[in-house]
Amino acid sequence: MKLNIETSRRIELIDITSEVEEEVRISGTQEGVCIISTRHTTAGIIINENESGLREDILNLLDRLVPPGAGYRHDRIDNNADAHLKAVLLGASETLPVTQGKLELGTWQSIFFAEMDGPRHRTINMTILKIE
Ligand code: ZN
Repeated sequence: MKLNIETSRRIELIDITSEVEEEVRISGTQEGVCIISTRHTTAGIIINENESGLREDILNLLDRLVPPGAGYRHDRIDNNADAHLKAVLLGASETLPVTQGKLELGTWQSIFFAEMDGPRHRTINMTILKIE
């Protein structure tokens, strides 16, 4: 299954929890595993709390750790090395259990697509493995 999204900023976190939950529901899976992944090299998939201050804190942390244009070799090719490096820190997938038909997420957990080089068209892949 694929989820297509349009991002609107250079870096941003987009909550995709309800879309992933809907795919799990449609699949009819009671017990299994849901893998959420992206094939992009300048974006990531993460799980954390969807609180506006925290979302800003996460993006600020990434900019502090990997500031744009800090003399990276890849910037000689297409000027987006910081986006690749941020994506390395985030990882390109998350895996969650599906239990009794629902994604096993904590009360404060949300799934985010993490855009590091937008705005762009982006694709998220969802693979659901049934254990039944
Ligand atoms: Zn690049």
